[in-house]
Amino acid sequence: MRTKIVAGNWKMNLTFEEADNLVDELMSELEQITLPRDVKVVLCPPAVYLEMVSDYAGDSYFMVGAQDVSEHEGGAYTGEVSAAMLASCEADYCIVGHSERRTYHGESDQVVAAKASRLLEHGLMPIVCVGEQLSDRDAGQQLAVVQRQVEGSLFHLDSNQIQQVVVAYEPVWAIGTGRTATAAQAQEMHQHIRSLLAAKYGQAVADEVSILYGGSCKPSNAAELFACPDVDGGLIGGASLKAKDFMAIINAIIG
Ligand code: PEP
Repeated sequence: MRTKIVAGNWKMNLTFEEADNLVDELMSELEQITLPRDVKVVLCPPAVYLEMVSDYAGDSYFMVGAQDVSEHEGGAYTGEVSAAMLASCEADYCIVGHSERRTYHGESDQVVAAKASRLLEHGLMPIVCVGEQLSDRDAGQQLAVVQRQVEGSLFHLDSNQIQQVVVAYEPVWAIGTGRTATAAQAQEMHQHIRSLLAAKYGQAVADEVSILYGGSCKPSNAAELFACPDVDGGLIGGASLKAKDFMAIINAIIG
């Protein structure tokens, strides 16, 4: 049975003190519920807070993820953070190919593919983001665009590696806009992604890959999205910054 995941992407928000308070509040809430074995909560703080958050995670209520990684192994790349560094700070996951990185930092599928490889080499699980622009959807090109991203970012991996990967479908027009994909739109794309994985790696392998939805997912729409058969949880931006909202989304995946 594949893992259900609720991952919070804090992006470039919160001071150290605010981040500490948020984790503290989440811990108190998480202590009061029992997470089923197939449900994981992942917090993705800014890299400078990874160690602080992973110290809390020692108690194993949640796992820790980074928001990006260098495509390079190490060396003279000022400002970059390597997969080896993330592993040494006890990160378990790392987001790669977020649309904000693709748009503002010009990250290509090739770069995203290299980042996913570096993470896997160091035992981290990549959360690989794909998703179409509004203009792609308006032109009826959304399935083709996401297919290109899936093939370009993931298909260099072998079938053992792909099972360590989490895919996040995040339609760019839904990120931070308050406009969410409908459950039908999400299911159509998630099924498409799984069928691409099945064609390349076989159905049994594709069935093991968790595919998350991201884009204005919030307490009011999480349950409907998570009820879709191919939606295995969410990558949550804005709503992960408020403990109550994030907990409501976690409760939606528990059902
Ligand atoms: C994200 O950036 O990954 C995201 C899903 O953001 P939001 O939930 O704020 O739309």
